[in-house]
Amino acid sequence: MPTHEVPLTEIHLNRNIRLFIKRDDQIHPEISGNKFWKLFYNINQYLAQEIENPVLITFGGAFSNHIAAVAALGRELGIATLGLIRGEELEQKWHENETLTKASADGMRFRFVNRQTFRDKDSLTQNLQKEFRQALIIPEGGTNQVAVNGIQHMLGNATKSFNYLCTAVGTGGTVAGISRFAEENQKVLGFKVVKDSSLEAKVSELSGKENFELIDAADGGYGKITDGNNRFINSFYDKYGVPLDPVYTGKMMRKLFELIEQNFFAEGCTILAFHTGGLQGIKGANEMLKKNERPLIKTTVK
Ligand SMILES: *Cc1c(COP(=O)(O)O)cnc(C)c1O
Repeated sequence: MPTHEVPLTEIHLNRNIRLFIKRDDQIHPEISGNKFWKLFYNINQYLAQEIENPVLITFGGAFSNHIAAVAALGRELGIATLGLIRGEELEQKWHENETLTKASADGMRFRFVNRQTFRDKDSLTQNLQKEFRQALIIPEGGTNQVAVNGIQHMLGNATKSFNYLCTAVGTGGTVAGISRFAEENQKVLGFKVVKDSSLEAKVSELSGKENFELIDAADGGYGKITDGNNRFINSFYDKYGVPLDPVYTGKMMRKLFELIEQNFFAEGCTILAFHTGGLQGIKGANEMLKKNERPLIKTTVK
């Protein structure tokens, strides 16, 4: 069980607005941020059944933070893990990918599936459950109702007093949990890093509340890494000493700063942004950037 007493970084902005960053990327050395909490009750419930040979199966792309988290947790708990990875072509060259190399070292086995098969999660899941009857099959990104419950551990006394709670949004589980467990008077802002117009309805259903607003922060689309965003990440690190990842937290923070500049927030208000992690992806992003002779992300991960 990680500690959720993570440090808050405080940043003073104009108009007396104060921004705090809750470093949930630091809850665990390898299983960072929201991914740990989304897995928490899912895996606990599964292990409580005392299955003889437990197996965790899940899905993800080659840079997935969720794949990294499941593999590391499997290793830590001594449970077998299987990752269904998007893209048949990776079968030959997954060794070149940082995330998959680390996941493999953590004991995860892979199956590489073509994009069409990968998209049809329902039949993929059904077939896997037939093949591995005892396995726990975790959805892509780890989001389900039980995962949303785990997000309550990101909230507590330390988060109660803020006017706004902010997070990056991929599959919507994290923002749904924050919305569900926020205080009555708190407003929740989700920064969508994926263009998906079905997210509002999904989050609303998972949360059961309407205290949230989703804001587009996709900046070219999911996983698209732009030089503008990387420059933002680098200057943010120089100024505040907080590393951000290029897929989630970097995009959230850039959009959040834009909103602050546009006077979206009232004078004197307090904003809490959850650092949901994702820093494991920086190495892989830099490798791609280097190949294309583009400027790198300067922040390094221990
Ligand atoms: C997965 C992830 C998110 C998004 O979480 P969802 O519950 O899928 O919306 C945000 N930040 C980071 C770093 C992530 O890895």
